[in-house]
Amino acid sequence: MTEIDSLLRADLRGQSPYGAPQLDVPVRLNTNENPHPPSAELAAEIGAAATQVALELNRYPDRDAVALRADLAAYLTGHAGISSNPALTAAQVWVANGSNEILQQLLQAFGGPGRHALGFEPSYSMHRLIALGTSTGWVPAQRAADFTLDPDAVAEAIKAADPAVVFLCSPNNPTATALDLDVIEAAYAATRGLLVVDEAYAEFSSRPSAIGLLSGRPRLVVTRTMSKAFAFAGARVGYLAADPAVVDALQLVRLPYHLSALTQAAARAALARSDELLESVEAVKVQRDRIVDELRALGLTVIDSDANFVLFGGLPDAAATWQRLLHRGVLVRDVEMPGWLRVTAGTESETSAFLVAMTDLQQ
Ligand SMILES: *Cc1c(COP(=O)(O)O)cnc(C)c1O
Repeated sequence: MTEIDSLLRADLRGQSPYGAPQLDVPVRLNTNENPHPPSAELAAEIGAAATQVALELNRYPDRDAVALRADLAAYLTGHAGISSNPALTAAQVWVANGSNEILQQLLQAFGGPGRHALGFEPSYSMHRLIALGTSTGWVPAQRAADFTLDPDAVAEAIKAADPAVVFLCSPNNPTATALDLDVIEAAYAATRGLLVVDEAYAEFSSRPSAIGLLSGRPRLVVTRTMSKAFAFAGARVGYLAADPAVVDALQLVRLPYHLSALTQAAARAALARSDELLESVEAVKVQRDRIVDELRALGLTVIDSDANFVLFGGLPDAAATWQRLLHRGVLVRDVEMPGWLRVTAGTESETSAFLVAMTDLQQ
């Protein structure tokens, strides 16, 4: 053990950090980013907003990001299929540097030493890693062989573990499967703790959002991000919708002035053009469906996708396929599930490059 290892918290020793490779290759389809960059007009508007804010950078930003939270509440009310319910307000929304920071704040406030969180694997590895980082115990529950979850199995797993925090992910990364609301309702009824539904990919999904279930469910939290559908991963903006009491609780653990004035201004400029940003969602879904069809035609096992990525299996050696694709300039994700890989839907030409390479490899 090195000197630093001996100083490190014992529960962190020997663990591996989150680390999708950031390689400079022509076709990058490994982190579920939106392949369509913001338009030059939007980039100019973000620049103008940043210039405005720069004139006041001697001051701390709005600690509560109230204007941005109001914009996010308006976006959710207009887009999440919840318009029949009362409109969401800024008091029900919290925003941070990516939804990962939101998840960390949730576990800092509601998890921690002596408590545990439960998730249904395979799922987003950061749920487990953020639990580790906040000294929250982790209970891995299992999905069915086809990666689906049914209400009874979910309720049973939750009741058996009685966790402080339950994670559901819909659409789920890396399987791309989405949940029907009856699963979320069953999970809520089964838990005494906080139920966090990670909806990072909601805009790509055909299923209704859990946001429609918030009313009357004070322990339900729905997390969202601008990193995927909004094509805004580089800006680091994630948020949640929940009961105002949850938002209040997070004030105890958030760092003061956590979200920079530049980030707040950039996010508001982008949200003002949310319709334009979301136009690319339809184009991405076309490529996603194309990937599903063409990989099936190659004889691979492909999970139906409600997200902007596809999980495909039936590979004798997934690591070798990953390497051969990289050799052809195509980076996909090795999700460490034997026989499976995950690919993000790219632009039409990126997707073609991936499919041509896969066709080569299958011959
Ligand atoms: C990409 C992703 C996130 C997003 O993280 P940000 O910190 O908002 O970029 C959250 N949850 C899941 C399941 C994801 O795949």
